[in-house]
Amino acid sequence: MPEILPDSSKKLFQYIINGIDINEPEAEVSSIAYRVIDHLFHIDKAEVIVDRSLNITTKEKKNLDQFIMRINDHEPIQYIVGETEFYGRKFEVNSSVLIPRPETEELIALIIKENRDKKIKFLDIGTGSGCIPVTLARELRDSKAYAIDIDPRVIKTARSNAARHEVDVEFLLIDILTESIPGGPFDLIVSNPPYVLESEREHMKANVLDHEPATALFVSDKDPFLFYRRICELSQQALRDGGRLYFEVNEKYAEDIKAMMEVLDFHSVDITQDLNGKNRIVRGLWTNDLFAKPERL
Ligand code: GLN
Repeated sequence: MPEILPDSSKKLFQYIINGIDINEPEAEVSSIAYRVIDHLFHIDKAEVIVDRSLNITTKEKKNLDQFIMRINDHEPIQYIVGETEFYGRKFEVNSSVLIPRPETEELIALIIKENRDKKIKFLDIGTGSGCIPVTLARELRDSKAYAIDIDPRVIKTARSNAARHEVDVEFLLIDILTESIPGGPFDLIVSNPPYVLESEREHMKANVLDHEPATALFVSDKDPFLFYRRICELSQQALRDGGRLYFEVNEKYAEDIKAMMEVLDFHSVDITQDLNGKNRIVRGLWTNDLFAKPERL
């Protein structure tokens, strides 16, 4: 029996909606369906809504069915279509990198606000897709960008994002837990290190747990500050006098990380909340002069 292919954009939309079988709200499923149609058939939401006739080939339908299977396997749509949006720009993503989160856009917005019109040399530690250095390099045009990560596949993806957005970022393959940081002194160091506790796994969804890189997400409950402590210590050497350190943090530990930074001689350390009112960003100022009057951040 010949296969019946959806012959209009509305029917195509309906076909995808009926095929998706995941435990998500209707609005989320619709938004996934629109992204699939846009990616595979270059038909935007408005065209689906007004409806138009289509001539889908069997091959296209087979491809579509494969997409639907991946969605039903809880693979994030961003990995399936191979890109996501961050701070108004498209970034390539794949299973080697974390999908950039809105919280990180807030971190970026704060850094841009506080460093606009400055000529800064900055470093991003644990860069993933490269969304942080690429966005900062685009927004702070006179800056000099460095970024490090432990995984060569990650560096490849981040490099391709830098090329896509035509910025120069010096990418370095480094394990910060065992190596030091070359290229300093920096005016600014930023990091969104792994901060989800192993014990928090049980509250997380399959799309994150089964598909996103665990090394980018999780830290042992035994030492939740592992990366923060090490980055603070490295920053003491790598930041210039008066340089700034910005962290994205687990909301549970913002106060502890602030206290740790103060013990490690960072000044003017403070906490910023995200749009959900959660303590999400901790930042501080490094100075070699112990008697210096702390500059206001
Ligand atoms: N914000 C991310 C999440 O909740 C975690 C990012 C990280 O561990 N650095 O999935």
